[in-house]
Amino acid sequence: MSVSRETFDYVIVGAGSAGCVLADRLTEDGRDRVLVLEYGGSDRSLWIQMPTALYIPMNMARYDWRYYTEPEPHLGGRRLHTPRGKVLGGSSSINGLVYVRGNPLDFEGWEAEGAAGWGYRDVLPYFKRAERRAGGGDEYRGAEGPLATRRGRLENPLNAAWLEAGRQAGYALTADMNGFRQEGFGEMDMTVGGGRRCSAANAYLRPAMSRPNLSVRTHALATRVLFDGRRATGIRYERGGGSHEVLAQREVLLCAGPINTPQLLKLSGVGPARELAGLGIDVVRDLPGVAGSSPRTASARATTSRPAASSAAAPACATRTSSSISCRSR
Ligand SMILES: Cc1cc2nc3c(=O)[nH]c(=O)nc-3n(C[C@H](O)[C@H](O)[C@H](O)COP(=O)(O)OP(=O)(O)OC[C@H]3O[C@@H](n4cnc5c(N)ncnc54)[C@H](O)[C@@H]3O)c2cc1C
Repeated sequence: MSVSRETFDYVIVGAGSAGCVLADRLTEDGRDRVLVLEYGGSDRSLWIQMPTALYIPMNMARYDWRYYTEPEPHLGGRRLHTPRGKVLGGSSSINGLVYVRGNPLDFEGWEAEGAAGWGYRDVLPYFKRAERRAGGGDEYRGAEGPLATRRGRLENPLNAAWLEAGRQAGYALTADMNGFRQEGFGEMDMTVGGGRRCSAANAYLRPAMSRPNLSVRTHALATRVLFDGRRATGIRYERGGGSHEVLAQREVLLCAGPINTPQLLKLSGVGPARELAGLGIDVVRDLPGVAGSSPRTASARATTSRPAASSAAAPACATRTSSSISCRSR
């Protein structure tokens, strides 16, 4: 079987949150030619773009990889759906639109453990640079970036009641979870702008796609990282019924998410040597740190329904607390 072969400066696998940002930044000065390979297809869909449809695309096989956990011993052996985006924008095109930054103390802790340059004061300028907050910028928030954020517009008495309940239970209120104080009960921000989901594709990739030095290929499944010795030189991928190889003169960037990136590395011979040998995969590099699974979060959601007569006057809206309990009324 013939294999087509071409060359770019950078090859990015995955047009998700990370891949879209890299595609934008690496092409903005016009010097380098960049190829993005994405297995999913177009994100031009009402279900993706319309913020209130947020629970729909994460449950559509067209946009989700349909991963399930192994049977969970503490849940009666049930297998839990673990959505991952499979579309331009990746998981940012199917996610819950919640904009809550990492806790400052986590960044400080990582820096203290040796991750130089990852302290909160180091990452804050990047958060600000990324953000275009509807309410304007301040010491903590950005107003000029590509990623649109805003508060919900709908008023619902349950929202205020929920915050008041938190206060009465002895918790602090916070005016801005992404500002001075994250902990507490308060209104959250959403990645929404101009009435649309502000996915990484909308924020970063789409504006960059008009550049002649950026190529984006959908329905392209990366199957292997190509190596010259231990140096990654390119990607093999399947598309349109054929097998293709693309070489990267500068870098191969794996942005396929926390499940598919380690999978691709292992298929390429990078991972725990014993596991790879057991699967008949030639070992390029014994790296036990290439995980078999990623940390999961469990979430609990409380849903309240109003009688049908009053639902028209109180359309869906949600208030999430920093403890990730949501209160949704219809
Ligand atoms: C259902 C859901 C709800 C979420 N809710 C929120 C939220 O409310 N707020 C929040 O901040 N975060 C949320 N997240 C998390 C957030 O969206 C992700 O952390 C983030 O998008 C991950 O970015 P990524 O670039 O690592 O991967 P992804 O965005 O998942 O991108 C990976 C991309 O790589 C592609 N790909 C994978 N394998 C291959 C291959 N072999 N070849 C070619 N392409 C490949 C995939 O199709 C995908 O497009 C949610 C995630 C999910 C799934």
